[in-house]
Amino acid sequence: MSITLDVRDLLGSPGDSRRVLVSEPVAGLELPLARVPADRAIEARLLLENVVEGLLVSGPVRGVMVVDCARCLKPVEWPFHMDVRELFIPRAVEGLDAYLLADGEVDLEPMIRDAVVLAMPYSPLCRADCLGLCPRCGSDRNEGPCDCGPEIDERWSALSVLTLPESLPEATLESPAN
Ligand SMILES: [Zn+2]
Ligand SMILES: [Zn+2]
Repeated sequence: MSITLDVRDLLGSPGDSRRVLVSEPVAGLELPLARVPADRAIEARLLLENVVEGLLVSGPVRGVMVVDCARCLKPVEWPFHMDVRELFIPRAVEGLDAYLLADGEVDLEPMIRDAVVLAMPYSPLCRADCLGLCPRCGSDRNEGPCDCGPEIDERWSALSVLTLPESLPEATLESPAN
């Protein structure tokens, strides 16, 4: 898939610029906990500028992704908005990080895809204080307490019979600053 624009006129006229509005769905934008639904358009208001090196494309990119809360797994809509500023050049140049122009056309799709994937959260939360799911019955703790009672992690249950020595240095008793 591609979002291509013919920019031959622009490339032939140094210093010239053009504004474009792109509003297209971009397929395959998906990470394990985040995705942009295939039917949701991504909107980009871009300024295309003829610069010495090639074509400079900049402007805001916005849309809505759906993320699954990492604690309770509930899908939530997550509007995103970022600014792109990328160079497109006619042929690859060693050491220059840029997208390529092909036959007088610019394909905006890889740039938009890269920007959106970078903005996808790896551990999204539906809200900062999401209580998550009960590890035993699986119920959503945000909707109220379940009947499982207080949790005792088996790995740490031995600690409940430990007695701390009286002479423990004070510093180790301090909890780390938040
Ligand atoms: Zn949640
Ligand atoms: Zn439970």
